[in-house]
Amino acid sequence: MTSSPSARTAHFLEVVESLAPRLEEYGDQIEDTGRADPGVRALLHETGLMRLTLPEERGGAGLTAQEYLPVLRRVAGFHGTIRMFVHGMNGVWRPLATFGTDEQKDRWLGIPARGELFAFALTELDSGTGRDVATTAELVGDTWVINGRKNLISWASEAEVQYVIARTGTTPAGTAEISCILVPRSAEGMTFERIRDGMGCRGSIHDRISYQDVQVPAENLLGERGAGLRVGASFLDVSRLGIATSLLGISERAFELACEFVRHRTTFGKVLAERQAIQMMVGESAAELFSLESAIQRTAQMYDAGHPIQSEAAMCKLLGIEIAGRVSDHALRMHGGTGYMGEHRLERMYRDTRAMWFEEGTAEIQKLVASRPYLGA
Ligand SMILES: Cc1cc2nc3c(=O)[nH]c(=O)nc-3n(C[C@H](O)[C@H](O)[C@H](O)COP(=O)(O)OP(=O)(O)OC[C@H]3O[C@@H](n4cnc5c(N)ncnc54)[C@H](O)[C@@H]3O)c2cc1C
Repeated sequence: MTSSPSARTAHFLEVVESLAPRLEEYGDQIEDTGRADPGVRALLHETGLMRLTLPEERGGAGLTAQEYLPVLRRVAGFHGTIRMFVHGMNGVWRPLATFGTDEQKDRWLGIPARGELFAFALTELDSGTGRDVATTAELVGDTWVINGRKNLISWASEAEVQYVIARTGTTPAGTAEISCILVPRSAEGMTFERIRDGMGCRGSIHDRISYQDVQVPAENLLGERGAGLRVGASFLDVSRLGIATSLLGISERAFELACEFVRHRTTFGKVLAERQAIQMMVGESAAELFSLESAIQRTAQMYDAGHPIQSEAAMCKLLGIEIAGRVSDHALRMHGGTGYMGEHRLERMYRDTRAMWFEEGTAEIQKLVASRPYLGA
């Protein structure tokens, strides 16, 4: 694609607007059936929305962060599972692009362009998600042998390849050596247990994985031995900015619905919008959304200019969690009991928002990451 940056964003925003009725319909269908029709993913693939950021030479649109995030922001106003496909696949190719060998890139980097899925397997059932990961990968001859368990892994059973973060030994300093191994779907020894639907983002797939002597070739190591946490961070920084943007998109949609509602609903002889108590909630939410939008824009500019954004992306995600929490609470309260019922979109948006409290790290972890440059860590 050769058009200017703003024209590319405008083009994909138009694509999303033209799909709006179908995306709304799919969202309702997901809520009714508890599963995402395969047509959802097919539609996102056909329209290029799952490969917006993928480099053009790999079949994507090659959008920068500043070009892509406005599109994600709009997509986030639809069902949470639709947002997860777009957010996930536009981020998870990055570690392969940064750390992959030419052979690894040729084999797997085109996954989003083929409408297939990646999975990123870090979280564990019995350990934390830093140096204490307990899943092991042992190099036996020229084969990695993987054992352990992962938890809450999105699309694990459907993904063509998983990034598996595992302990591969001990460093000279005596700490755990954590590495990233690429495990294709065809590898034997994996069992998947589908986790029951979450509070929100119904119809999205999350699995518990068990690895029992799973064998992959030595060349499936991504990056160097011991680079596993760096591999994760290379994707998480910009991806957290995507979560913050998703929180902005879904919150402003909830806010719009609330404003629309209070402009029409009359109680005790007056429309709600004329009540100061309501105006306070509207003003507070508007200010918070404005500050989140500004923080995201500034961080996206830094990222596109090649600056590190680890701390800033964590701050954006933290702000996003807290602001989206308050804005969705206000939106629900302004709707009264009407907004609490499943027939109203707000009920679903309120639940979908909460998935992002956890995706790519909790608020506490964002605070720890955000603090690092200030403490010289
Ligand atoms: C919808 C969804 C999709 C997900 N997809 C994936 C995926 O594809 N791949 C993947 O690997 N994971 C995935 N996850 C998991 C997610 O990344 C984790 O749930 C999240 O990082 C928190 O880890 P945990 O659940 O192990 O909680 P824990 O680490 O057990 O944390 C529990 C509580 O303790 C706090 N806590 C933990 N450690 C500290 C600390 N050092 N200091 C202070 N407080 C602390 C946490 O903030 C939290 O409040 C997904 C989760 C959800 C909900």
